[in-house]
Amino acid sequence: MDFVIAPPAQPSVAVAGSDARFPVRRIFCVGRNYAAHAREMGGDEREPPFFFSKPADAVVESGASIPYPPDTTDLHHEIELVVAVGRGGSDIPVEAALDNVWGYAAGIDLTRRDLQAAAKKAGKPWDLAKGFDRSAPISPIRPAAGAHPGAGRIWLAVDGAMRQEGDLRDMIWSVAETLAALSRSVILQPGDLVFTGTPEGVGPVARGQTLTGGVDGVGEIRVRIDG
Ligand code: MN
Repeated sequence: MDFVIAPPAQPSVAVAGSDARFPVRRIFCVGRNYAAHAREMGGDEREPPFFFSKPADAVVESGASIPYPPDTTDLHHEIELVVAVGRGGSDIPVEAALDNVWGYAAGIDLTRRDLQAAAKKAGKPWDLAKGFDRSAPISPIRPAAGAHPGAGRIWLAVDGAMRQEGDLRDMIWSVAETLAALSRSVILQPGDLVFTGTPEGVGPVARGQTLTGGVDGVGEIRVRIDG
């Protein structure tokens, strides 16, 4: 096929223990999925799951240095369990939803918190607060192979100082419930990534600082924010 401009490269993520890579189709993110973080953001912990998205090419490899993004003075870290979807579908029942998971990773939902706060106040979309270039650092994906983490420590440190520490068991909506809910709104597709929300302790990261984080048994991520 002829294209009028060069087609974009396929975004992808490394796979733990393999040279093959996971192709990324879309990135969905769950808002406020840990009660203590919902409260620190001024929300109600009982509200149903809601979703926003990032471009597929926002993924960044662990180990990378990334420039401090433009248009913000309040870049925040949010460490999250990421679900890599291997099989798609719509109206997926909760009981069968984990069969659609290919693997798991640890990711950071980088957020331009000042833009998000202004958008919330004005009732405007979050897109550019969340879905900017290089806003989705992610560890290599660990194949699930039938093992789905329902509990385990999730953490993030800035320059070695612990900022976020939680447990997957404190998620308000489980991975299965999240995928089922998302599949009622869009046709879930192979290659989709789902960031499943962050525990409390979100905060700013400054130029020159290094973020390290992980989900026990799943993976670890390290990125440096350049000046
Ligand atoms: Mn988030």
